[in-house]
Amino acid sequence: MKKDDCIFCRIANGDIGSNTVYEDEDFRVILDLNPGSRGHMLILPKEHADDLFELSDEYCEKLMLVARKVALAAKEALGAQGINLVQNNGEAAGQTVKHFHMHIIPRYDGDDRGMVNWTPHESDPEAQKQIEEAIKSELSKM
Ligand code: 5GP
Ligand code: ZN
Repeated sequence: MKKDDCIFCRIANGDIGSNTVYEDEDFRVILDLNPGSRGHMLILPKEHADDLFELSDEYCEKLMLVARKVALAAKEALGAQGINLVQNNGEAAGQTVKHFHMHIIPRYDGDDRGMVNWTPHESDPEAQKQIEEAIKSELSKM
């Protein structure tokens, strides 16, 4: 269902104009208003989902095919040397718009890589084992 008070629902369904590079019955792919790089795009499902956890299995299955297609087109059209796929869920992860979206970010040699980064820490084998067990245990319940 689309939500009238959701900006990305309105963009995805064409009620608000956007620089659309791709559209099918499920998704619209637009240029980001404040791009982190030349050609930064967003894949928006036309149905509302707050985040990945609300996105239906059907949309999840189709999403990666769209992502690969537009990423490849951007690579060719813009001469990007690399592409980041980024998808934020929750404020802690940097999500600012509560309608699922996947960022497709073309990358060029010499980019600062400022948008997609984390600080690598040394890992503790015991802690890693505990994390491994905790996630596997949760998965076994699904
Ligand atoms: P988030 O931080 O939630 O993962 O990313 C939200 C993204 O949406 C940002 O990159 C921001 O620039 C983009 N954005 C927010 N509002 C609009 C809009 O009205 N139009 C477009 N094209 N992009 C938007
Ligand atoms: Zn929405």
